[in-house]
Amino acid sequence: MRTALISDIHANLEAFEVVLSDIRDRGVDRIVCLGDVIGYGPDPCACIDLVQEHCEFSLLGNHDFACLLEPTNFNPIAAEGSYWTREQFEPTGEDLDKSSTARRQAFLHLMRTHAILDGDPDYLLVHASPRKPLSEYLFPEDVDNAAKLAAAFGPMPGRFAFVGHTHVPGVFAAELDQSRTVSVDSLFEFEYANELEGPFELDTLDGRLRFIVNPGSVGQPRDGDPRASYAILDRSSENPRILFRRLEYPAERTCEKIRREPRLADRLGTRLLTGE
Ligand code: ZN
Repeated sequence: MRTALISDIHANLEAFEVVLSDIRDRGVDRIVCLGDVIGYGPDPCACIDLVQEHCEFSLLGNHDFACLLEPTNFNPIAAEGSYWTREQFEPTGEDLDKSSTARRQAFLHLMRTHAILDGDPDYLLVHASPRKPLSEYLFPEDVDNAAKLAAAFGPMPGRFAFVGHTHVPGVFAAELDQSRTVSVDSLFEFEYANELEGPFELDTLDGRLRFIVNPGSVGQPRDGDPRASYAILDRSSENPRILFRRLEYPAERTCEKIRREPRLADRLGTRLLTGE
């Protein structure tokens, strides 16, 4: 079974279409989305529609939550983007297609905060972190913060977790302590996806390692590489493998759409050109 893991589309239709086309070309069995389908970008409705059409399910991200209910702890640019996004999901006087509006709202309401893939506890899926599925950022530099990572890994029911949220693709590994749990005595590492030469093998050795995998962001990469990012999980061999994919897309088109919408800050478009 090959599963495409996508995350943080952020209403970027141009990036999402390129990713979907690549997924089709690679003969993947299914697509799951780790959340933040909307927020920041100019095409929330089209992106929700495509997720609904192509993904087995989508988790709830903090931006989906913000647009559905209310932005909390958002900077002013992100908050205004959320309010604008929410209005795109409201039926208006001229809206002749009320069924689409209702369907999109229902889809947002049904998003879950976490999932266990195929009922296998080794595969936990959340938007942000196992400890705080909606809000906690796990940054590469957190490998120097053993207390934070130990607490974040703690609630994992099995060996692997899959998260988005930071928009930085790569893999955290934790080597268990002497009592075979993740604690502040564990060793933590992060491998950047862009520095990998081939697929990353989730080497389970004799059960001494735990992994948290981030497929990166489809629609707003932040690792200095503006290409859209996603990953394919292949569970056909003994050690599961992760293939990270990076794809060019016409970011200047998305940037121009954002520039034309006065309530979306220009910076939300220009950052797409540099991946920052
Ligand atoms: Zn995000």
